[in-house]
Amino acid sequence: MATPKIVLFYVFTPLADPEAVKLWQHTLAESLGLKGRVIVSKDGINATIGGDIFDVKQYVRATKSYAPFKGADIKWSNGEGDDFPRLSVKVRDELVTFGTPDEITVTEDGVQGGGQHLKPGALHKLLDERGEEVVFFDGRNAMEAQIGKFRDAIVPDTDTTRDFIAEIESGKYDDLKDKPVVTYCTGGIRCEVLSVLMKNRGFEEVYQLDGGIVRYGETFGSSGYWDGSLYVFDKRMHVEFGDNVESIGHCVSCDKKTPEFVNCANLECRKQYLRCTDCTDKGLQPDCPGCVEQGIPAEAVAG
Ligand SMILES: [Zn+2]
Ligand SMILES: [Zn+2]
Repeated sequence: MATPKIVLFYVFTPLADPEAVKLWQHTLAESLGLKGRVIVSKDGINATIGGDIFDVKQYVRATKSYAPFKGADIKWSNGEGDDFPRLSVKVRDELVTFGTPDEITVTEDGVQGGGQHLKPGALHKLLDERGEEVVFFDGRNAMEAQIGKFRDAIVPDTDTTRDFIAEIESGKYDDLKDKPVVTYCTGGIRCEVLSVLMKNRGFEEVYQLDGGIVRYGETFGSSGYWDGSLYVFDKRMHVEFGDNVESIGHCVSCDKKTPEFVNCANLECRKQYLRCTDCTDKGLQPDCPGCVEQGIPAEAVAG
């Protein structure tokens, strides 16, 4: 592959016939030899697609030629080639699975009643004006925040997006309800929904980082409020904004800083945890800390 690229985008817009959009997207991506993941629902599209730059550009042009997707904000990044194992295009109840398909309302203008969108520059302005008062609220799975997050961010205890409702209803975060809260996630889509759910549950001043961490990193590199690496859902596993960026995660074996996630060798578990490449090469700690604590032996050598 000459120049591997990955695009990430979503559009919240009412789709009368998600099945038809799915078939079109599948045919389009397949005909261009692209791989990745596309979710379509009655509320729009969420896609991460990779391939050669020439083919990806054609895919983007065709996708934007469909009027409801015309305004899609496409985030480009460099791939490594074969960044996804396959092409998957599916219709789902929700673009992101919070388990609340009936709680959000989507019009041609997008999700209704969500947090105010802040572009990276506007986020810095808010921080300049309101300072310490502003709280970052991580809208991702807790694991992703192990290698990078906004400074002093609150990281809810979530294994999947489905866990957010219980977290924000738990009372743990009630002291944030009258504070300026900025939600953030990888590309912005999870915050479109999360910020609605938070506002509906009494959080009064909710903002969402427009374009997510990806756009923020493109804008400010490693000079802003972002610390560490960004977890990504393709072969790269993590990306950094600039050279000499250190992960904030630590190897479970030697405690050295590392952004490298590996799968637990226990086939019943397969949970991802941090282990540096040196310790991996030496075959150290093949099981995740949870399994070690429970005394479960490895069934295979970690890879
Ligand atoms: Zn190590
Ligand atoms: Zn495990």
